[in-house]
This record gives sequence, structure tokens and C-alpha cells, in this order.
Amino acid sequence: MKTKRTKPRRDAGIRRRALASSAEACPVCDGALRERRGALRYPVNGEDIVVGSTTFQQCADCKEKFLRLDDARRLQEAAIENYRHKYGLLSAGEIRSIRERLGMTQAAMAGILRLGANTLSRWESGRNVQSAALDVLLRMIRDVPECLRYLRRQAA
Ligand SMILES: [Zn+2]
Repeated sequence: MKTKRTKPRRDAGIRRRALASSAEACPVCDGALRERRGALRYPVNGEDIVVGSTTFQQCADCKEKFLRLDDARRLQEAAIENYRHKYGLLSAGEIRSIRERLGMTQAAMAGILRLGANTLSRWESGRNVQSAALDVLLRMIRDVPECLRYLRRQAA
């Protein structure tokens, strides 16, 4: 009879469960947690992206890995940055500078591109990543002035 695997995973993956910042013991076995640095994977758009060097907690007994909340945020941001680099997408700073050069608020640009209210804020802070299609659209409004005029007429 097949049994469910109960051994802790030893690969570069990690539990998505974040560790409360005050936690001192392993939530799985109550063992001692140690701070480590190493490579971890984080899913971006369904793809596991490797982050070469990041901080996490590891249980000295069961070897399970956990992330404190601020380490989880840093891992996510680094994975998104690596993903953008891998696929040649505009960086968070490049998106911000396109918007600022056009003199638009995040709300104004979201209106023209028909994006959700917080989408640009998430892109510009590195907490989320634009799709390849929207990346092309951002480059078009950066490089082809008529494009922005067209979109403004459509939005009006
Ligand atoms: Zn443990």
C-alpha cells in the first residue's frame, strides 16, 4: 500500500508558510531554528525561479525550511527581479520612469491601460510582474508618442 511521503523535502524548495517574526522553534517538530543563507526557488507566474542567495530559517532537527515575513518579501522581490531579467521585461524602475516621464500618476496610467487600481504600484515596487503583452504596451507608449494619444482618446 502506498503511503504519503512524510520525509521533509531536502531540495531548494520552501514551505510557503511564513514564520511569525517572534517564532523561535520549528512549527513542525519544535526543534531549534537556525538562520541560513542559500539558494531557494520561488514561483513567479507558475514557474519556479531560483534566487541564488537569500536568508531563511532551517530546523536543526527535521531540516525543514521556513521564511520570516521580511525574508519572504525579499525572496519574492528577488525572484520577480530575476524573472524580469530572464524574459527581458522592463524592470520596476523602468516602468516607474516611463510613467514619470509622461507626467502621469499611477491612477491616470492605470485608467488609460485599463489596469486595476493597485497594479502599477505592485509593478513599480517589485511585488508583482507585468505580462509580456503589457510589457510590449508599456514600451509602445514609451517609444511611440501617437500610441499614448490613441489610448487617451480611447479612454476618454
Ligand atoms: Zn523541525
